[in-house]
Amino acid sequence: MVEELLKDIFVIKVPLPNNPLKDLNSYFIKGAKRNLLIDTGFNSKACYDALTSGLDKLKADMKNTDIFLTHLHSDHTGLSASIASDSTKIFIGETDGDILVNLFQPEYWNQVDEKYFSLGMSREELAENESINPASAFLPAKEKGYIGVKNGFEFDLGYYKLKCFETPGHTPGHMCLYNEEHKILFSGDHIIFDITPNITSWDFDKDYLGLYMDSLLKTKELGIQFTFSAHRKVMGDYHGRVDELICHHEDRLAEVEKVLKNAKGLTPYEVASQMTWSIRAKNWSEFPVTQKWFAVGEALSHLEHLRYKGLVNYELINGRYIYYIIR
Ligand SMILES: [Zn+2]
Repeated sequence: MVEELLKDIFVIKVPLPNNPLKDLNSYFIKGAKRNLLIDTGFNSKACYDALTSGLDKLKADMKNTDIFLTHLHSDHTGLSASIASDSTKIFIGETDGDILVNLFQPEYWNQVDEKYFSLGMSREELAENESINPASAFLPAKEKGYIGVKNGFEFDLGYYKLKCFETPGHTPGHMCLYNEEHKILFSGDHIIFDITPNITSWDFDKDYLGLYMDSLLKTKELGIQFTFSAHRKVMGDYHGRVDELICHHEDRLAEVEKVLKNAKGLTPYEVASQMTWSIRAKNWSEFPVTQKWFAVGEALSHLEHLRYKGLVNYELINGRYIYYIIR
């Protein structure tokens, strides 16, 4: 499905089968000299067919089209290499670009497995997750050649000028694109209107949930009239959604604290198993393993935020992180 949203700005709906995100909104902006495509879909046949048929409808010539990836996740980057022409430049924020090249290395995923083991997942769950996790299964066809851009980098498309606006949180270097004149924000996964963007902790060196909430407040200061999100509903009330997302995480932080208060010490996996989730499964043991993996990451980012606030701490016991309340 293709729809014109504003002059020369089109959305192509790319379905993500069997994924709770349901679809990706890929945006095509017709430029004076070169066009820009924002985000692409998984490197899978269903996504490829939808994206290329949308581009065909728009009579988009990839020879005159560059690609911007809001962040490193494979539902955004996956098709970038397959649809690019020899003259297509593929841009991504430099922080995420540096991580993206690591995702092609098996050692990277071994380290991720070790990390999730230390967070409480079992070897059996990790083995099952490895083959089906979309984070690793639908990567782009090409490992190199991404052009890293800095905060403030500008795409001049003629009628629209789009500035890179770094919003770390969902990923370490997530970037939105902002048009000041018409007050348009392409929000990627920074703001999604009908689901909550997943926030995980990429390492223990930073408070990623804190970074995300700071990024929400930072973008709130921009004048924004149109927000074009990367999943599900294309547009919505930006400022209202920011308030909702901040409230959501404050509620979640209170829930995590409560779970920990009732125990001596818990792994992030155990904390996640006691949190409430809006997925269609009777109980934690029936969660699909990939959803458990995302839930553990989400629990971790909340635990780490509380740790950075000095409310909780962890001990490493038998290779597992055990979080506890500082009393
Ligand atoms: Zn994402």
